[in-house]
Amino acid sequence: MRTVYIVGASHSVRIEEALRQLPEYNVQFNVLGFGKSGAKFSQFRWPDLESIDQGDVLLVFPLGNDLIQGKCHFKRNRILHLQNYEQTDDLSFRIQLNLLRSKLGKCKGKKIVVTNFYRHFCCQDHPKPGWLSYQNLRNAQLYGLLDTDPSITIVNHRKIVSDTNRELRNTVQYRALQYDSVHFKDYVPIAKKLVKYILD
Ligand SMILES: [Zn+2]
Ligand SMILES: [Zn+2]
Repeated sequence: MRTVYIVGASHSVRIEEALRQLPEYNVQFNVLGFGKSGAKFSQFRWPDLESIDQGDVLLVFPLGNDLIQGKCHFKRNRILHLQNYEQTDDLSFRIQLNLLRSKLGKCKGKKIVVTNFYRHFCCQDHPKPGWLSYQNLRNAQLYGLLDTDPSITIVNHRKIVSDTNRELRNTVQYRALQYDSVHFKDYVPIAKKLVKYILD
């Protein structure tokens, strides 16, 4: 049975819980969660990467809380609103990606990296021009830096948020799957999609 080591912030905690609900759990894979809600990349907890076996899986959700500077959001009526945003600068983002790459390089197991789930399409009061293209830019940069390494599988977030086969490009549809504009109503369908990559 393969062990899945999960690293990231709140999404990773919820994915871990959802993976434990699948029929393949404890049959084809085990889970060890290192997720830490609200964490930025520099605060992530990691397993001992060098001791991960070849047949095991490192599943990382590296983006999210690092997209913007300062205080991210405020909560009103269960929604995590983001009024304005200040982009993190390209240099520190690049440093973060390089750090991610060197961490992944220490792991001999299968490495799966999930791109940033869209976040904070909160309400009409906070339209945030450029917010979608900025999130897409960071995802493209993640691909740009990691895609050259054949030992890393990058999973497009849009391909796993829906049970349908088509990618969700429409942010209204995407947002409808989230209850607070960041977290999903149901992580089990996402976990089901991820299992295919885990067991592949
Ligand atoms: Zn936030
Ligand atoms: Zn809002």
